[in-house]
Amino acid sequence: MRMREVPVLEPTRVLQGKDYREVLRREMDAGKIPLSLGKRCPVKCEFCYELDHSYRETLDPPKTTQEDWEFILKYINSKPTDPLQFWCLGGNEYMEWTDLFLHPKAMEWVEDFLKYTDKNIQFFTVGFVHVPKIHRLAAQYPGRINFELSVITLGRYRQQLMPHGPSVKHVLKVLDGPAVSSANFYAFDHQTMSEDARTISRINQQCVLWMGCLTPVRGLPDSTVALMRQGREALPAEAERIYDAGLPNLMTIHTEAYVTAFLNRKRIVSLFDSLELDKKDPVVMAKSVAKILTMFRKRRARFIPVPNAMLGGDSDCTVLLTFDDIAKCVVPQGYKYIYLPKCVIESGRGPEMDIAGVTLEEFTKKTGVRVRVLHKIDTKFANTRLYRNGSLQNYVEDYVRNPLARSYEAMPLSA
Ligand code: SF4
Repeated sequence: MRMREVPVLEPTRVLQGKDYREVLRREMDAGKIPLSLGKRCPVKCEFCYELDHSYRETLDPPKTTQEDWEFILKYINSKPTDPLQFWCLGGNEYMEWTDLFLHPKAMEWVEDFLKYTDKNIQFFTVGFVHVPKIHRLAAQYPGRINFELSVITLGRYRQQLMPHGPSVKHVLKVLDGPAVSSANFYAFDHQTMSEDARTISRINQQCVLWMGCLTPVRGLPDSTVALMRQGREALPAEAERIYDAGLPNLMTIHTEAYVTAFLNRKRIVSLFDSLELDKKDPVVMAKSVAKILTMFRKRRARFIPVPNAMLGGDSDCTVLLTFDDIAKCVVPQGYKYIYLPKCVIESGRGPEMDIAGVTLEEFTKKTGVRVRVLHKIDTKFANTRLYRNGSLQNYVEDYVRNPLARSYEAMPLSA
């Protein structure tokens, strides 16, 4: 059979001819507080996932002015308040992600937000906050701030990974007080994450320790990719060291997709069973999910593992699959129809679009492949339910010390 050619899929351009206020509105409609530095992030971390964001259309607004801020505050105030919602400081769908505490007015505007709205706020930063002020705000507005501090690492790899990041001394001051809700940091080698966990826990027993390893994606320098992979190797032993230390903090491990898929195998399998597919039905999914289903439900459907070619690196995630990735797999093999998890078309870009902005209609029109959407496999299931098993204890007991995980790791993926 002659291989069919993969057509070029065109993303829908949503920002063409629009001005930056449209970007602000779209981000706010998605629960973001879209401040802008008006330039690329000057911190230039070696691991930054924004180093190559060419897969999506962005239009970066100019540096936020007081007038822009008043527009933002008014727009957000016109939205109903959901007590469970935390508005995220910074947009990242139609603009580029940066560390917004580098904006000279950021601290003042965070205070404005708390004073002039009744909404909650969350922010992520590598630590460029004003120390007495951030602790004062946290004490003054209890429960309304979710501060996720990106510690990344305090040890010997810090200089290589974030040469322009704040000093360790400053980060420890940020941790020392009521402000930080959760601190994220990662394994890069032995005695990295475990050392950091002990240090942070000595200073702050209230914050959640959010740990794991970082996944290489396209565009990262080779030396960083190597360091991330080295961290992945060290992660099980590092996690056991922390588990055995019995620290008082709440502790989570967020690692690569194949581990998450294994820890959630029962949920994945029962959801799959509820779909009542025929064994000939072709279903596209990320490689890790295909591996779980091959292990527990062999030949109960035709599993098509699709690599995340668009994001590249070691990405392995159904939510982040693009139609281009899927076309590269299913078109040459001559599939006439496929089943598609709904989460692929629930990206923030718009209705029935993947993360790159390509629509389901464009895919069907250009490839001739018919699509049946699996509505039960939505983003809510993928993001919320699959994160439930993310405790350090669960990772150590059900993955690191579980012999079944070794046979899963050794199993070749033959779908
Ligand atoms: S501070 Fe954040 S946005 Fe800026 S380079 Fe580092 S990781 Fe990227």
